[in-house]
Amino acid sequence: MRALRVPLLVLLFAAATTLLVWSVRGQAGTPVSLVVTGGTVVTMNAAGDVISDGAVAIDHDKIVDVGPAADLAAKYQPTDRLDVRGQVILPGLINGHTHAPMVLYRGLADDLALMDWLQHYIFPAEAKTVSPDFVRVGTRLAALEMIESGTTTFADMYYFEDDVAEVTKEAGLRGVLGQSVIQFPVADAKTPADALVRAEAFIKKWKGDPLITPAIAPHAPYTVDADTLKAVRKLADQYGVPVLIHLAETRDEVKTIDEQHHMSPTQFLDSLGFWNGRALAAHGIWLDDADMKTLAKRGVGVVHNPESNMKLASGIAAVPKWIAAGMKAGLGTDGAASSNDLDMFEAMRVAALLQKVATMDPRALPARQALELATRRGADALGMSADIGSLEPGKQADVITVSMDDARQTPMYDAISHLVYVSHGDDVRNTIVAGKFLMRDHQVLTLNKADVLRDARAMASRVRAAVQPAPPAKEKQ
Ligand SMILES: [Zn+2]
Repeated sequence: MRALRVPLLVLLFAAATTLLVWSVRGQAGTPVSLVVTGGTVVTMNAAGDVISDGAVAIDHDKIVDVGPAADLAAKYQPTDRLDVRGQVILPGLINGHTHAPMVLYRGLADDLALMDWLQHYIFPAEAKTVSPDFVRVGTRLAALEMIESGTTTFADMYYFEDDVAEVTKEAGLRGVLGQSVIQFPVADAKTPADALVRAEAFIKKWKGDPLITPAIAPHAPYTVDADTLKAVRKLADQYGVPVLIHLAETRDEVKTIDEQHHMSPTQFLDSLGFWNGRALAAHGIWLDDADMKTLAKRGVGVVHNPESNMKLASGIAAVPKWIAAGMKAGLGTDGAASSNDLDMFEAMRVAALLQKVATMDPRALPARQALELATRRGADALGMSADIGSLEPGKQADVITVSMDDARQTPMYDAISHLVYVSHGDDVRNTIVAGKFLMRDHQVLTLNKADVLRDARAMASRVRAAVQPAPPAKEKQ
């Protein structure tokens, strides 16, 4: 008996210690870096869960838990806590197509025919003003606008994309950034071969970065020849990076490619093997059923840009048909030269309204689907659904909160309806990327707003000097 007494005491002591540790842990909870709590959580997970009085627990760059606020309060001990009562917590928005530095051409020339606008304003402005400095100043302004309006990831196509990447990283945003390749001489390349050399160096520098996904962006099937398009695909495959392109944006494009190759732009690119790998295409307005089938089969992400398409009178993309065909669909603003701002809330609202009037069916593109285009579907279109697009444990902590306590948002029966039909970018209060605050209580933390605006205004005077304003419209006699 004596021999057993000691081990028994040891066992009792061990059990008591374990209980003590458990109870201390129970009070303190698992340590995490941040809990965002008290708001309505719109998870955008596959089940479509919405949790009123919910919370999101974040540790470093990842989401560790999503659930009722009371449950998470009992489970976690956060270093930092953000109380967002009266707000909606949702995944950061994904702008699937833009040209960030073009914010510096915002409102430079509006209400013009596409070719007049491009040839007399945008191309001359770009020829005279685009430089690494211009790109940095423009991207900083775009990043400020995106952070303030809840965009956490954007896909970009421009020149000097390395400078776009440097600024994106500094601002703390996530970017799929495509170095442009185009047939004619541009600011950062005299030939497409130069552009490919630049693209390769860009990819080598940024591959593996946690925020930046380098990509190659041949402008369009009518501005880049077949050999260059094939070389782009080869280079992308060599490094396992995506390609970004404009596709079927105008009827003229379809006509040109048909005259040259007797195929649609989609089939022409398919014939080159261009879609055999990760690809993201912008616009897709003039697609036929066979094109949609091909894009679905090849897993190409196609991004709808309703405001740019309306303003340039390019046409209306059949987004409900894309979705029915199984295509990976996203949503974008396009550059601010053609859509004037980078507000993804406006893009969602316009996308939903446009489909209703285009199809004469108010059930077309309901609010939830519009929100999906800017979140989980958009992530899938970018090939990033494992990491972003919804609030789920294991994903990157890209989280925004949106105020819902003003007159305009009262009452709130349905958070998703409000996000699409009522909210503006200005309603965003907090923007978090990879667990880091880029904006907290409406204060942008990663950029100095006054400096960004001052530099942009200074650059605008150079743009103004390069391009004369359109003559005033003649009055009718
Ligand atoms: Zn574009």
